[in-house]
Amino acid sequence: MKKKRLSKQQLIDKQKLDDKKFNRTMLISFSILFLCLLSILIFYTYRCDTRLTWRKMDWYGKVVPKNWICMDGDILQIHESTKAVFEDKIYYFCSQECFNHLVKHFREVAITPDAYSGDSINKSVAIIGLKERGKPELVYFKNERNFKNYYETKAEKQKQVSNK
Ligand SMILES: [Zn+2]
Repeated sequence: MKKKRLSKQQLIDKQKLDDKKFNRTMLISFSILFLCLLSILIFYTYRCDTRLTWRKMDWYGKVVPKNWICMDGDILQIHESTKAVFEDKIYYFCSQECFNHLVKHFREVAITPDAYSGDSINKSVAIIGLKERGKPELVYFKNERNFKNYYETKAEKQKQVSNK
C-alpha cells in the first residue's frame, strides 16, 4: 500500500518535472520568436533612417541627386522629395509648405551663394553636395570646378589639421 502511494507520488513528481521542461522549452521558443519579430519591426521602422545615415556618409564629395533634397530647408531628406516647377525652373521640396515658402521668399531662398566662389546662383541649376560627411546640410555650386575645389580644399585643410 505504501509502495503504491510512493510510486504515485513519483509519478506526480515526474509529471511536474516534465511540465517544467515543457514550460522552459515554450518560454525559450517564444522568446526567440519574439526577438525575431522585434528585429523585423525595428528593421522596417528604422529602414529609412539607416538608409539616410548611409547616404550622409556615402554621398559626401559626390553630386547629391536633387530628388533627395529639399531646396527650402537645404537638407538631405529621409524620403524622396517632390519636383515643382516655378518660373520655368525645376526645384525639389519635401512639402507644399516648403514650395510656398520659396515662392514667397524667392530671392532669399532660391538664390544662394556658391559655397566655393560665393557667386550668386539659382538652386535649380546648381550642382549640389554635402557640406560635411555624416551631416544632412547641403552646399550649392555654380559648376563642377567649384564643386571639386570645395572638397579638395576641405580635404587639404583636414590633412593640415591632422599633421599638426
Ligand atoms: Zn522642406
